[in-house]
Amino acid sequence: KEIDIADPIRTRGILERYGLSAKKSLGQNFLTRPQILKDIVAAAEITEADDVIEVGPGIGALTEQLARHAHHVLAFEIDENLLNVLDETLDPYDNITIVNADILQVDLPKVVAEHLDGKHTLKVVANLPYYITTPILKGLLQSDIELDQIVVMMQKEVADRLNAHPGEKEYGSLSVAIQLEMNVNVEFEVPRTAFMPQPNVDSAIVKLTQREPWPVQPYSKEAFFKLVHGCFAHRRKTLWNNLLGIYGKAPETKEALTRHLEKVAIKPGVRPERLSVVDFIRLTNELKEK
Ligand code: SAM
Repeated sequence: KEIDIADPIRTRGILERYGLSAKKSLGQNFLTRPQILKDIVAAAEITEADDVIEVGPGIGALTEQLARHAHHVLAFEIDENLLNVLDETLDPYDNITIVNADILQVDLPKVVAEHLDGKHTLKVVANLPYYITTPILKGLLQSDIELDQIVVMMQKEVADRLNAHPGEKEYGSLSVAIQLEMNVNVEFEVPRTAFMPQPNVDSAIVKLTQREPWPVQPYSKEAFFKLVHGCFAHRRKTLWNNLLGIYGKAPETKEALTRHLEKVAIKPGVRPERLSVVDFIRLTNELKEK
């Protein structure tokens, strides 16, 4: 039986044979620890009942492990130089589709409908290209496909931001945006030495699952994200100053804002990092007319 693609000697051999050098600009850091890949698949609890979307298969290290457990794997790779490689390395598996596309540009619901049967639970599992972690997550959460869970590797600092709570220094607009709908679990950390080439940061595996709805919902998600973004524009400033940054400083505006804040019982002098997700939802709804 063939050894795992992620085996460091096999990975090196594949890269040499194809004359490939990892492209930094595409966030190419290949995992070379088979056990870590197996742990990722285990964290995502992949079974025959699941179809898996992978972002950035690289030379197929994670794709292979996913294909051993999933019903089907649909993987999006932007680098066309990797297509021949994947053809060879993933040849033993008949339940993998590689799509040569930029995950940020692709019409995901359309491609999913083309290649997956819609009868299996849909999960995303990936070792993400770190330079676009946030846009990928936002795109997945905003896409019109029903994802059961997302299990992805990212830079540890970003994982800490996703998982941060009010008052913590990592807490910011990304934490609030993700926690509106998802539970965040940091499953385990991965040292930089597990990759070829080694990145300059350590990594973590994060699991996102649908959370139980908050007691209030924003009237519009777009308005919610916009307000949250604006409120964290200047972290060191008060909520009041950030709100003036969004809405302007006209006397009528100040008067109205004072009234709205009173109604939701939020003090203007508070720093944005003290507000909970629910505070931001209530504030969004209160400021609806603005
Ligand atoms: N899955 C492999 C592994 O675990 O060893 C490779 C992961 S590597 C961190 C990220 C992969 O994402 C690379 O193969 C890179 O070419 C690909 N990639 C980068 N930007 C992308 C994009 N916009 N759309 C799809 N794939 C992308």
